[in-house]
Amino acid sequence: MQASNQNLLPRISSDVDHEANKITDFFVKMLRINSVNPRMGGPGETERAAFIESYFKGESFDVGRVDASDSGYKNKKRPNIYVKLEGKDKSRTMWFLGHMDTVPEGARELWQSDPFDPVIKDGKIYARGAEDNGQSLVASLFAVRELKLLGAELPFNVGAWGVSDEENGSEYGVKYLLDQKLFKPNDLIVVPDAGVPDGSDIEIAEKNLLWLKFTVKGKQVHASLPSKGKNAHRIGMMLALDIDHVLHANYTKHNDLFDETGSTFEPTKIEANVPNINTIPGIDVFYFDSRVIPEYSLDSVLSDIHKTIDGYKQKYGVEITLEIANREDAGPATPTTSEVAQLLAKAVRQVAKKEPKFVGIGGQTVGNLFRKEGFATAVWSTVDDHPHEPNEYSKIGNLLNDTKVFASMPLLAGDS
Ligand SMILES: [Zn+2]
Repeated sequence: MQASNQNLLPRISSDVDHEANKITDFFVKMLRINSVNPRMGGPGETERAAFIESYFKGESFDVGRVDASDSGYKNKKRPNIYVKLEGKDKSRTMWFLGHMDTVPEGARELWQSDPFDPVIKDGKIYARGAEDNGQSLVASLFAVRELKLLGAELPFNVGAWGVSDEENGSEYGVKYLLDQKLFKPNDLIVVPDAGVPDGSDIEIAEKNLLWLKFTVKGKQVHASLPSKGKNAHRIGMMLALDIDHVLHANYTKHNDLFDETGSTFEPTKIEANVPNINTIPGIDVFYFDSRVIPEYSLDSVLSDIHKTIDGYKQKYGVEITLEIANREDAGPATPTTSEVAQLLAKAVRQVAKKEPKFVGIGGQTVGNLFRKEGFATAVWSTVDDHPHEPNEYSKIGNLLNDTKVFASMPLLAGDS
């Protein structure tokens, strides 16, 4: 089986090239349907899901639907849909997971064309959601379609999901699907939602993420009489620098998988305090963005922060509160030897003709949600990496390339 399946790779390539117009046309029509996340003021995924469903039903697929109820949404249900082919081993599935929702277009004057009326220029399709995550969603769906047309026996099931709510925490998307136990322990998970322009990076690890809000409460007084008050701003600045020092001193390990090889602890936002110069601020609010390599736990980072805070409370007699604005613990890195990582590496090498490189990233994708539940998960796509920006685009060459890579992956199973 394997040897003959290998021989199908050139056919996949010529089929996808032959269907380039059909795939591009589907992509353009899909992008015309505004699917900005409803929590970000958009209409949500309903109409886009209906479009995909009806197209693939027309292609003789049974389209599966696992909608998540969402009382805060006008349609009350957030769609999650999939197409799937059965393979020889029906107990496991190679799943591709693209998301249907997008972020809003942002300031319209920064766009050279209508973000919801795709324009094709110089081999690129410009529209909101073209890169994030339309290209990969279409590549996954059409990879499954290509495998169906090919009619080859697959070693295991192969399917592609279009999920909701990725841009706002995945509560009605991947988190819901994981809660429903829709994935089996031996499934192979591919999340095509991050990548580099030459398509060489295969992401197998993500950092822990921690966003913190610190509030220091002192005593507000006239600036000429500081001894009567407690300058929350000065204490806040000292505290921020101390926390910065403590964390950088205690978390010194490096992990070469990541571009930024160490953990990062960055003071970022501060809130406005008093509006005038001659008042000593009674309150100071600042924030940290931390990305911690998977070797460390966020519990230990938080414990170090609490110790520092307790010291400040004692020393200065101020109230200090710490709030967690966002916390996502990193799942274990997916082994480079795992089947999904190896199949993707083979396909990148043989189909995209690039030398694959395993990497970690400081951002987070839904790949981390799978890794936390123990699934081997590879994150990959070929993108110029400008998500959420004005004039977002997808290169048609990347769309076709990634379709070929995805369709080839299951056919590379078993050979060496
Ligand atoms: Zn995305």
